[in-house]
Amino acid sequence: MTKSFHPPKRLLMGPGPSEVDPRVLAAMSRPTIGHLDPAFVGMMDEIKAMLQNTLRTRNALTLPVSAPGSAGMETCFVNLVEPGDRVIVCVNGVFGGRMKENIVRSGGEPIVVEDTWGKPVDPDKLEDALKANPGVRLVAFVQAETSTGVESDTRTLVEIAHRHGSLVIVDTVTALGGTPVLTDEWGIDAVYAGTQKCLSCPPGLAPVSFSEAALERIRERRHPVQSWFLDLNLVMGYWGEGAKRSYHHTAPINALYGLHEALVMLEEEGLENAWARHRRHHEALRAGLEAMRLELPVAPTERLPQLNAVAVPGDVDEAATRRMLLEHHGIEIGAGLGPLAGKVWRIGLMGQTANARNVRELLAAMEHTLA
Ligand code: PLP
Repeated sequence: MTKSFHPPKRLLMGPGPSEVDPRVLAAMSRPTIGHLDPAFVGMMDEIKAMLQNTLRTRNALTLPVSAPGSAGMETCFVNLVEPGDRVIVCVNGVFGGRMKENIVRSGGEPIVVEDTWGKPVDPDKLEDALKANPGVRLVAFVQAETSTGVESDTRTLVEIAHRHGSLVIVDTVTALGGTPVLTDEWGIDAVYAGTQKCLSCPPGLAPVSFSEAALERIRERRHPVQSWFLDLNLVMGYWGEGAKRSYHHTAPINALYGLHEALVMLEEEGLENAWARHRRHHEALRAGLEAMRLELPVAPTERLPQLNAVAVPGDVDEAATRRMLLEHHGIEIGAGLGPLAGKVWRIGLMGQTANARNVRELLAAMEHTLA
């Protein structure tokens, strides 16, 4: 007989998922009720209001897509890209590359603005690409590149795109909850995130939000959205303003209890306090790593506090170190991806993971492992 699965004890200090608070796990184990039950619908309204607050937006169309961050990405592209559209995509890591793939699969023509992995998106290059390609109506980039630990300047990039008449899609999967995402102030038109990073929820939901200009673009579409599940015209009937809450798909009810609780916890702490906590513990981690003569290759002003790339010293076996941290200390950290594979570790301080005890535990385990 197959037995019930009991996961081993782990401390999640990689690029996500992050530690999930017992309060969130407890919320998820509450009884399942119907997804059209008035009590559940009331909870959905609260989730929407808390997501609007977390994303710093008043966008009416703000909701958690019932699938992971990748589905949030896909929701933005399948709704905003039409066959034949030219779309500028800034690529400075793995997830910019995935955006490009989404443009192609939505029938669009990507115009790639490439930056070095480990550097932010260069605003001048974006401006040059927009000048060289008049008529481009959409720009996309990643605010917090999880593959490199670099933050790009969303405010400046959106301002440039708007000056050239383009809407903007921004990936904030790793940013949201750990570093400011000021959707309305910066003028982002379509934004998506994930629950398993700085919101400290299990994976599987993707908060998204769309501006009025983005909705107008979707309403004007000449072709139907090719994905039935992600077509916002249909999703809006369930989540939208004044929606009849008619059946679209069966919502992941218990996962949404978890998201509700995680957002309540964030509200109790205060979003600005959460941003400050991520920065404080990042500084402690950085100081400890540097004291061990480990280097953080990303420039200090471009670093994400919640995702720390650490250069692997030349005489150290990158994979063996991660294996020992996991086997002897129960700590998970991440490997480098693409051109950074074997060259960096990625240490996450996301959401509930970002606290003094975890920083101390990781530093002690690293010291022991590298000795
Ligand atoms: N975008 C970024 C920046 C990410 O870090 C991730 C996941 O790590 C994704 C998108 C995809 O999210 P998910 O793995 O939840 O589908």
